[in-house]
Amino acid sequence: MIRTALLLSLLAAVLACVVPLAEPSLLAQEAHASWAMLVALALCQLLWYWRGNRLARVTTLPLALILGAMLTSYLMPEHWISVATFNNWADHLVPGSDIDNWRPPLLELAALMTLTLGLLSRTRANLGVPLLQVLAALLLLADTSLQVVGNDFAPLVRRGSFYTGSLLALLLLAQFIGVVQGWRHTHQSLTRALWPSAILAVVTIAFWYQQSHLADTKLHQSVDVRYERMAERLTTEINAHVTAMRRFADFWGILDRPPEDEEWRAQAERYYRDFRYFLNIAYINEGGEIAYVYPRDPANTSLIGMNIEESQRPYSDRLARALKQRTEEQTGVLPLLQNVPGLIYYLPINSHQGGNALGVAVMVVGLPLLADTLYHEGHFDRVRLYLGLLNGDAPLKEWHVSGTPGPWRVESDVIFGHVTLTLVAQPNRELLLSERSRQPSVSLTMGLILTYLLYLVLFGRHQMALQHRSVHRSNEELRREVRKRTQLQSEIEWLAGHDELTGAPNRRHFLRAVQERAEQTPLTVLLCDIDHFKSINDQLGHQAGDHTLVRLASIGQQLTPSEGLFARYGGEEFVVLLPRTNEHRGMAIAERLREGVLTSGLEHADGRPVTISIGVAVHSEGTLKVEELLHKADLALYEAKHAGRNQARLASTDAMPDS
Ligand code: GH3
Ligand code: MG
Ligand code: MG
Repeated sequence: MIRTALLLSLLAAVLACVVPLAEPSLLAQEAHASWAMLVALALCQLLWYWRGNRLARVTTLPLALILGAMLTSYLMPEHWISVATFNNWADHLVPGSDIDNWRPPLLELAALMTLTLGLLSRTRANLGVPLLQVLAALLLLADTSLQVVGNDFAPLVRRGSFYTGSLLALLLLAQFIGVVQGWRHTHQSLTRALWPSAILAVVTIAFWYQQSHLADTKLHQSVDVRYERMAERLTTEINAHVTAMRRFADFWGILDRPPEDEEWRAQAERYYRDFRYFLNIAYINEGGEIAYVYPRDPANTSLIGMNIEESQRPYSDRLARALKQRTEEQTGVLPLLQNVPGLIYYLPINSHQGGNALGVAVMVVGLPLLADTLYHEGHFDRVRLYLGLLNGDAPLKEWHVSGTPGPWRVESDVIFGHVTLTLVAQPNRELLLSERSRQPSVSLTMGLILTYLLYLVLFGRHQMALQHRSVHRSNEELRREVRKRTQLQSEIEWLAGHDELTGAPNRRHFLRAVQERAEQTPLTVLLCDIDHFKSINDQLGHQAGDHTLVRLASIGQQLTPSEGLFARYGGEEFVVLLPRTNEHRGMAIAERLREGVLTSGLEHADGRPVTISIGVAVHSEGTLKVEELLHKADLALYEAKHAGRNQARLASTDAMPDS
């Protein structure tokens, strides 16, 4: 598997390096950043599968940092670091380049980032590598769908190229093949964590789609509104100057005579100063001759005396109409004598008193000059906003801008009486990007980070639950073991102090009890021995013998007073300890025992009742010597046996034979 991953990574690295050499057209200028990052990632991945851990980490970490910086450029608010600043930096590094040449498209960048982080996380499931791979796949898929949908979706969103996308997919495949086997032991936690986080990732990317579309639509609308308003302002401005011109013509009607040269110059100068786009303001007399013209520069003074009506110039009929029918006239756009396109207004001057015609005031508007004036007064972004004033398709004035043109061209009408011009506005990409909301990129990044965290939490939680369960299981086992051992221990303890066959306390128990109660004098000991027990064994079998022993122990325990202790001394001998019991009471209890056995119904093979003989010894004062006391009891028992059995004998207090 590792070998396959290595081979696939090698293939991706070779393709990344070789294909652009063979087919340079595959690599557009704006894809250079993607390509460089792709080659770096392919090499890092190659190192990872070839040389393993440390070297790969040393090379992958800087790559991750560079990608992080690129990603930050998408998220940085405009007032922190503006697009213009980024573009300046880019231009500084490589003249003519802009920020988009230095960073891959957002989705491709995110995919590169996830694959790089996948390498850095050493392909471990608990560090989220499965999710990173799913994210890379989803991002590549989203980028491909963006390539299919085309730029209408959100024109300011850049798409990755098919070439870099496929090589990234190849690297992803290599990573997946290289690691999938290692996930087997955690596959349960992995699937638990992967599903919800993958769904969240899909939602995040869908949300990004929607937000990007919305951001671009909003920006488009705002651009439309803004530059349409600008055209309206231009029209208003033009109307204002026509009104001013009418006042100018009207003024001469008050005089009730044709104006004189000096008067004309003085008045015209004021208007000329206010409306800088007037090329000249002229007076045409009744005869259709240009009488005065302001300003009196060489270009204009040559006009004096010219009869425009006869000059065959375009729209010369308009002057004739103004002179004869006394109507306000205006030409269409025409090439002026000053070699610029313009418009001429003819405003008849009528005497206020007699109403007779006094000539025509002519105003020549230079359209490029008009556009210039408005442009300079309008405080437009001169570096980033293309503006053009067009007559039909012919540009009258254009202000070119640097950088990539933006996707939207706003065309609005500017109305000069019956002439309609077109104002074209086209902000460049930098201006649009500076105004575009960063929210889609921020929500995509945040959403993906959230997805990653969700995966880590779910994965960790499930692993912890598994560990908890296994700890619980071993705890249970341990508890069972402890219980068993405690039981065994108490059994052992019981066995240490009891006889297994009869359940009665054994000799050890008896000896300990004697020591403990040594002070409770007088202390009486009864030593009981079954008479002819051997014959029971021999004639009725050992089992019957055992049964006799069990019954006898039971009878003995019943008949022993509660403060006493009945124990099996060994074989078919039993012993009774009676503290604070003198010889009379001891003998009485011995008798009771003997009687009890005699009448118990236990029989020999021939029907004789089973009997016992008892030796009784008493310790009254002084230090207790257990062995001595027992020896005395044994002697008494011996006596009882000799005297014919089935009887109790008290040991004599002084008689203490040596053997
Ligand atoms: P005596 O009246 O003189 O006491 O005769 P006896 O047969 O009782 O004498 P002895 O002490 O020689 O016999 C004791 C027998 O008890 C010997 C042994 O086989 C038997 N015995 C000892 N312990 C057990 C036991 O736990 N179960 C059985 N069935 N027999 C036992
Ligand atoms: Mg015996
Ligand atoms: Mg016996």
